Amino acid sequence: MIYYKSKREINLMKEAGLILAATRLELERHLKPGISTWELDKIAEKFIKERGATASFKNYEGFPASICASVNEEVIHGIPSKKRILKDGDIISIDLGVNYQGYHADSAWTYAIGNVSNEVLELMKVTEEALYRGLEAAKPRNQVGDISYAIESYVNKFGYGIVREFTGHGIGKSLHEPPYVPNYGEPHTGPILAEGMTICIEPMINLGTEEIRVLGDGWTVITRDKKPSAHFEHMIVITKDGYEILTPKLEKKE
Ligand code: MG
Ligand code: MG
Repeated sequence: MIYYKSKREINLMKEAGLILAATRLELERHLKPGISTWELDKIAEKFIKERGATASFKNYEGFPASICASVNEEVIHGIPSKKRILKDGDIISIDLGVNYQGYHADSAWTYAIGNVSNEVLELMKVTEEALYRGLEAAKPRNQVGDISYAIESYVNKFGYGIVREFTGHGIGKSLHEPPYVPNYGEPHTGPILAEGMTICIEPMINLGTEEIRVLGDGWTVITRDKKPSAHFEHMIVITKDGYEILTPKLEKKE
């Protein structure tokens, strides 16, 4: 069932989202060639803890780290590792989850490390734009399928692979709750959006084939053709006349 959130609950999720946003900004300061994904995990874990929150992913169904760090052909659920050192030309998708007073925030972003090929930069740009296209369809009386269709119809123009096995989702006291928000689908189908619904919209888009597989670690999802993949995710609340982003993208102050 879909849980509609009260004002109090939305405010707690907003707090969680702001901690997440600040954590992301902190990680961005460290994103350069030579850093390991393990170091990024430790930075995030400490930062989240210092703000009186916990990392939602740690131990979630047994996930062994605080963040998901997925490099290049890794789509999602990459496990941070001392051996995974970022190098010039990589892209990295960092998925963050923050639990604040029992309420979760969830958001992901893909970054270019140093000089990345135009082809891959374009994939990132289109995936980010696909997120915004999905957001535009997020308003009361629209349906989940309207979000799905907005994403799919935009991405299809570029011939990329849309990951189907993983989707956006409702969120609140649980990291994942109904409704599921696929990145493909038909307009005017699925649950009706209404004020107080909190959902994550998260296109996962592959440069090549949509096909994926899971590595032997039981977590890391990679593209079957080993071509890169991008992932952008925001958590939102449906408002009276549209939506509000609860995991804002803060800008670096130099
Ligand atoms: Mg999510
Ligand atoms: Mg996420």
